[in-house]
Amino acid sequence: MSSVTVRVPAKVNVQLSVGPLREDGYHDLVNVFHAVSVFDEVVAKESESITVSVVGEWADQVPVDDGNLAVQAARALAKHAGRSYGADLVIHKAIPVAGGMAGGSADAAGALVACNELWGLGLPYEDLLEIAGDLGSDVPFALLGGTAVGTGRGEQLSELPMGGVFHWAFAVADGGLSTAKVYAECDALREATGAEVPWPQVDDALLAALRTGDARALGGRLANDLQPAALALRPELARTLDAGRAAGALGALVSGSGPTCAFLAADEEHARRLADALSQLSSCRTALSAHGPVPGPRPA
Ligand code: ATP
Repeated sequence: MSSVTVRVPAKVNVQLSVGPLREDGYHDLVNVFHAVSVFDEVVAKESESITVSVVGEWADQVPVDDGNLAVQAARALAKHAGRSYGADLVIHKAIPVAGGMAGGSADAAGALVACNELWGLGLPYEDLLEIAGDLGSDVPFALLGGTAVGTGRGEQLSELPMGGVFHWAFAVADGGLSTAKVYAECDALREATGAEVPWPQVDDALLAALRTGDARALGGRLANDLQPAALALRPELARTLDAGRAAGALGALVSGSGPTCAFLAADEEHARRLADALSQLSSCRTALSAHGPVPGPRPA
């Protein structure tokens, strides 16, 4: 095989509950991931060494050296297989960069699947999941897709059976937010209030809404503990959230560490109308409509 192409989706966190800061600097999370139909494409071609190039709207914001998560994934896979394989990776980037939609993790997952195929390794998903867990907290879910509850740092996953399709609009802001800075701001805000931080718990009503495909119920349960921190760092996001609510969104929240904001729609047409309304805002660089859940990366 001389070339393998995989499509890999972005995610939105429909519940992100952040526990107290641990001694190792991480937080225990309850993270309900939902993969949506905004896709990067990762192409892996035969090559002597592992290289990467990036094309598309966000290309100039993505490193093309060893800092690229897809390169790190390919190297980790080659190491796991015990040989010095090469691959020329080309990433067609449609997922906003540093937007809270886990685009880098998506590319890492895409590279694992593409190189597993290109190099004829035939490793089972369980092996890829183990490598993914070492690459970053969001990479295992990026490999899985669908909808899943993550606990621990987010890397211990259990898949959720789903009862329907949900339609979304996303308002993408100009410029990213660093995930580390948003967590640090979250800790600082909590310290300032002095309130005890509860242990994160799965929201059973949210899981029931996902299971039964009830968009209205899901809209009322969307929750993100990082949202106050993202709003403190980017106050204009409050206007974006208000505008989406005013345009009839069933629910609105900052996606992960932001600054992308996610809006739940009643149906596909409503999602398109929401995206149109959001794209008019000065706080919005571009708006997208999408649906979820969608499967994780598979070779085309
Ligand atoms: P998360 O939701 O997992 O916190 P994010 O969506 O906020 O992530 P990413 O788009 O994954 O953020 O990118 C975070 C940083 O990672 C970027 O600023 C970029 O420098 C770096 N990066 C490394 N590899 C990639 C990649 N393949 N695609 C995008 N960013 C990458």
